[in-house]
Amino acid sequence: MGFFNLLSNDIGIDLGTANTLVYVRNQGIVLNEPSVVAIEKSTGKVLAVGAAAKEMTGRTPGGIAAIRPLKDGVIADFEISEKMIANFIRRVVKHKYLMKPRVVISVPSGITEVEKRAVRDSAENAGAREVYLLAEPMAAAIGVGVQVDQPSGTMIIDIGGGTSEIAVIALNGIVNDISIRVGGDELNDAIIMYLKKNYNLLIGELTAEDIKIKIGSAFQLEKELSLEVRGRDLVAGVPKNLMLSSVQVREAMSETVDIIVEAVRQALEQTPPELASDILERGIILTGGGALLRGMDKKLREDTNLPVNVADDPLTCVVRGTGTVLENLAQYSKVLEKSRKS
Ligand code: ADP
Ligand code: MG
Repeated sequence: MGFFNLLSNDIGIDLGTANTLVYVRNQGIVLNEPSVVAIEKSTGKVLAVGAAAKEMTGRTPGGIAAIRPLKDGVIADFEISEKMIANFIRRVVKHKYLMKPRVVISVPSGITEVEKRAVRDSAENAGAREVYLLAEPMAAAIGVGVQVDQPSGTMIIDIGGGTSEIAVIALNGIVNDISIRVGGDELNDAIIMYLKKNYNLLIGELTAEDIKIKIGSAFQLEKELSLEVRGRDLVAGVPKNLMLSSVQVREAMSETVDIIVEAVRQALEQTPPELASDILERGIILTGGGALLRGMDKKLREDTNLPVNVADDPLTCVVRGTGTVLENLAQYSKVLEKSRKS
């Protein structure tokens, strides 16, 4: 470790709607936690942040709320977001360094100026010396290893919890970008609705996510799967088990999947022809947790006629991108937005 590393430990943050990841320079990814905060309603006191708070979702007694401050890709709750960011930064900046860390934070590209300021203020209040904002699709592209300074275009589709972002990147910039507030959360909701409507079965969010991860798909599977699901019978009011097949879950989620595919089509229509031909040649890169949905790549390939590839380790592309930028700040200065006190 060199002299400068002792002075500060700069960090990169993927502030996601579902998960927050933190990268520390020279160390790699040191934190990967759900973006959830459990608070005591009467006092506003933070009881837990991250995995411990997520486990409380749907199980909290009246006095406690498990909150996702960034749920729909925007900062729904500034104060709680700030507490969450501060908690995560404190957890990774353990030692007393001579200099406060510089922080690169990836934010959804659809974020407003007010929200940007809130993110920056939170990081500064948590002890950051300098804060740089990096658009999420740019971070994802860098994390995947795309040479973002080149004139050739790359399309990134990042399917997160609360949002999906489709962006074309070339020459250090985002050429066109569509962000929709539909992602993994809406897939969970669709499963909840389906079971309620067809089986009078009520399940919670975490159970729905579990079903999606275990047997969910966007395209016909070579071998269909099944899972026993437990919920509450809405008529009898008692716990009930149900055998669910992947065919049913696919049907439940299909409309939501179609909304994402439609947004991709729209993004392709907006793409300048020269870049469209690059994409035709090089294909689309899928990142974010939603990229792990079985057959999502096949579905997009089928509907767009373009090559589609799932990135390696899609859940960590964005934070790895912030890490690459941190390690090479000068080289990537063009893709950063340094945010200053105004
Ligand atoms: P964000 O960047 O918004 O925090 P992530 O990229 O971390 O989101 O992705 C989280 C979403 O990915 C959640 O909706 C989660 O349910 C979903 N997800 C994670 N793993 C899988 C999987 N294996 N199959 C389908 N969806 C998944
Ligand atoms: Mg993300």
